[in-house]
Amino acid sequence: MARYTGPVCRLCRRHGEKLFLKGERCFSPKCSFERRPNPPGPRPARRRKISDRGLQLREKQRARVSYGILERQFRRYYDEAIRRPGVTGENLVRLLEMRLDNTVYRLGFADSRNQARQVIRHGMIAVNGKKLDIPSAQVTPGDTIGFTDRGKRSEYFKYVQEVIKSKNPPAWLSVDTSAMSGNVVSPPDIVQGETHLFNENVVIEYYSR
Ligand code: SF4
Repeated sequence: MARYTGPVCRLCRRHGEKLFLKGERCFSPKCSFERRPNPPGPRPARRRKISDRGLQLREKQRARVSYGILERQFRRYYDEAIRRPGVTGENLVRLLEMRLDNTVYRLGFADSRNQARQVIRHGMIAVNGKKLDIPSAQVTPGDTIGFTDRGKRSEYFKYVQEVIKSKNPPAWLSVDTSAMSGNVVSPPDIVQGETHLFNENVVIEYYSR
């Protein structure tokens, strides 16, 4: 699946806020946004007022960039969210949160969604004991996520063992740090707001026009 391969920090500067796309670096003084919070490119001659439509577009882009998804795939998530029973906005958040790459990141097995994608692609992640190397795969309640034998032999695994205790997974996931595995306890609780990276209602309004 295609993905954005340009400069990541530029996205934060474009959106005017920290999107935490680079793991530990985002919390260090090396963060580009801390040093240069202005938008990339030449300074505009005058500041234009953003329309409602523009604000909706901005929110949609922020959501898309945060999860590292390109437009076509993001649109497909919206279509699927409409198709499913229930509240469309909540369906959309759940579909995004329950991607395998996001789940690996939320469990603390990676410092960022980008890194999670890479680890998955390299065949280091197993779901229910079987290797799964598709970052966009959906996990379901009851799934167990851990490392493959290949993953366990890697230097990366040793690093995760060291840092996993400092991670704080959301309530819909549980982690067994001794076994280095995690469980999907339930679908993400949207009402609790712990998974909210964006305002789903604004994104739904953007697509439904
Ligand atoms: Fe954004 Fe992280 Fe880069 Fe800072 S270091 S600009 S938060 S991606």
